[in-house]
Amino acid sequence: MIPIAKPYLDKEDAQAAYETILTGWITQGPRVQEFEEKFAKYTGAKYAVAVSNCTTALHLAMIVSGISEDDEVICPSLSYIATANSIKYTGATPIFAEVCPETYNLSAADTETKITAKTKAVLLVHQMGMPAEIDAFKQLCETYNLKLIEDAACAVGSSYKGKKIGSHSEIICFSFHPRKVISTGDGGMITTNRPDYYERLKLLRQHGMTVNDRVRHESSKVIFEEYVEVGYNYRMTDIQAAVGIKQLDKLDWLIEERRKIAAAYYKAFRDIDCIRLPEEPSTCYTNWQSYSIYLKKNAPIDRNTLMQKLLDEGIATRRGVMTTHRELAYSKTHGNIKLPVSEDLHDRSIILPLYVPMKEQEIQKVIDVFLKLIR
Ligand SMILES: *Cc1c(COP(=O)(O)O)cnc(C)c1O
Repeated sequence: MIPIAKPYLDKEDAQAAYETILTGWITQGPRVQEFEEKFAKYTGAKYAVAVSNCTTALHLAMIVSGISEDDEVICPSLSYIATANSIKYTGATPIFAEVCPETYNLSAADTETKITAKTKAVLLVHQMGMPAEIDAFKQLCETYNLKLIEDAACAVGSSYKGKKIGSHSEIICFSFHPRKVISTGDGGMITTNRPDYYERLKLLRQHGMTVNDRVRHESSKVIFEEYVEVGYNYRMTDIQAAVGIKQLDKLDWLIEERRKIAAAYYKAFRDIDCIRLPEEPSTCYTNWQSYSIYLKKNAPIDRNTLMQKLLDEGIATRRGVMTTHRELAYSKTHGNIKLPVSEDLHDRSIILPLYVPMKEQEIQKVIDVFLKLIR
């Protein structure tokens, strides 16, 4: 069976977790701090704050950006549901805009049409690791005085205009879920260049507490913490961070390996006229978190039958990225909107297996069976 994805975790990662457990300091301690420092350096951001996952990262990003009830935040519907949920947690309303069919990323032109007097921010997703047009959105947000928040859950290690995702705008959120390119089990990270955001994020992730456990532990004087606002428990554990440090060392290599597999798919499929392959814009360097192929109307097989036939031959696939407005959680409030591009992309796209290490014969099998079924 060829799976859709699998995390790359090795003995070194396991050893790091093992050693951390034996140190006796297992949450929000020295490993978390080291992971944050390394992550900030890697992305080129001034600060990084580790949290429990990307959904909690996005929630905190909303709060520090000042999003609250009565606000509107524009985001794609074509995204994992956590994108819109993070807006809902603040009491604000997600407003769904269309994406570009070539990149699956938010369209700046359609986003502009959705701006109202209530709009406070744009939540820009780098879908499946492909960087969105950050500069166009920075311009748009400046023009309309909006906050820009990046959902880079899938985009760790990807670059836009020669710079790693993580320092182009004010606040960027990452995921280390096993379905992403590097993993800490669950886990998330927020990067920012703003010292005020950095300080508040550290408070909010740990109950609004002014002095963390580690500082109290290391102090030779008795110190008392204060709780200055209602915060959350969105901590990352040191066990996760120890794994994250080792994963980060392997990230560039993992991306190179992923790009070789994507290149093999591109070479094998590029002449087939009934499909559209994902294209990397010249400004972007993607980590290929997922490889999604769109079936045009003249395809000889429908998407779901294709998925079943691939599965029958031992190849797992997934349908295209979900449309949030058509899920029950949102269809009651957002069900009457129409997003034809997003809906069509979801309905007609198929995600192929892509993971490291993917054996030569596994890649070839996916190519051969896919070609047989699509021709
Ligand atoms: C995976 C994902 C999330 C959620 O990340 P978690 O770490 O699982 O909370 C958010 N947004 C997008 C676009 C994602 O793909």
